This record gives sequence, structure tokens and C-alpha cells, in this order.
Amino acid sequence: MRRVLEALLELVYPRRAVCMGCGSRAGFPRDWLCEDCRQLLAKRWAGPGLPPPGGHFLGAAYAYYYGGPAGGLVRNLKYRGVTRLAPGMGRAMARAFEGIQPTGVDCVVPVPMHKKRLRKRGFNHAALLAHEAGDRLGLPTIDALERVRNTRQQARLPDAKRRENMEGAIALAGDVKGRRVILVDDVCTTGATANACAKALLGGGAEAVYLLCFAVAREK
Ligand SMILES: [Zn+2]
Repeated sequence: MRRVLEALLELVYPRRAVCMGCGSRAGFPRDWLCEDCRQLLAKRWAGPGLPPPGGHFLGAAYAYYYGGPAGGLVRNLKYRGVTRLAPGMGRAMARAFEGIQPTGVDCVVPVPMHKKRLRKRGFNHAALLAHEAGDRLGLPTIDALERVRNTRQQARLPDAKRRENMEGAIALAGDVKGRRVILVDDVCTTGATANACAKALLGGGAEAVYLLCFAVAREK
């Protein structure tokens, strides 16, 4: 299914010809982005930043502020299945995380996707990013969480509903006892999903949880 989808996408969006940030057909010399998007993205570098409110995270890092080319990259990865964007995105995330200089971190855990949605999409974008960032940080990726309830897409809900939507949605699926974990997702908006995941990890005995996302939907 995924291969068919990728072949179709290749026809609709010839990858070498369309900028993944803005959709411009001017093409791109490197990094999947046109020159304008590359410059714009560089200006939106975030690095270590505040974790979402809720107190579950020891620290957080984000590669970029959301919007513009960062939004384009996320949408192309997530909804159009351009999984070849993941290595570059993961590399940026690893660089952002190195800015924290944490001690003793020992694994990376992706925000889980419900198996129904996983079947439909064919891949968990957060898991792809976790593997890429983890490889660059020299850390193993563990699927320590699972989505036990197929929640409505957070992106479609108003802020106040997001936390409610996540209640009881995440469960522990692996051993994280005594571990210092980096939780990985594509975008952090209100932090409702991330906080629910951190809560499950800490409930399972994780010693500390950091958050690492490709983008943060908050300004400085
Ligand atoms: Zn562009």
C-alpha cells in the first residue's frame, strides 16, 4: 500500500522538482527545500526550550518553530508519506537536543500511533523521527508506549479539548524502569499528547523524561 502511494505521489509531486517547504516548482538544490525556504527555516531554529506546562519533563528541545517551511516538511512527511524527509528532520532534531547537554540519557521513545491509524497510514511518523534522531544521538529506540484508544486528531481540536481527548489514551508497552528517556514527536502544540506520554513513562518507573520535537508551535 505504502509503495503504491509513494509511486502515485512521485507522479503528482516529483520529489526532485517540488520544494517540500512551500510546494514551489522551482525545485531545490538540497535539503528538499528551495533556497527561500532554506533561509526561512534557518531563521526559525529553536534549540533547547521550555517544556510544555504540566511539569512532566526535565527538559525539551525543538529543531524549529512551526509554520512556514517547517510546517511544509511535517505535512509532507505525515500526510503525503514522503518518508525520505525523515533523515534530515531527525538530524536537525538530534542537533537541537545536543544543545541541552543532558547526562545519562539512554533511550528514545516515539509518541505512539493507534494500530488502526497505523494500518491506514502505513508508518508512524514519530517513530521514523525517533529512529533517525536516536541513531544520530547513539541511542536505541524503544516502542515503550501504545495508544490504547484511537483518539480524534489533536490538530482538529481546540486547546481545551486536547487534554480531555488524551485521557486514558496512552499506556505503557515496554520496560522503562530506571531509564532516562527522550520522548519524540513531530510537533508540540499544547503538549497534551506529550504530557500524557510522559505521565505513562514516569508511571512505569522512568527516572526522567525529556521532550524532543521537530517543531514547536509557540513563539519565543
Ligand atoms: Zn520552498
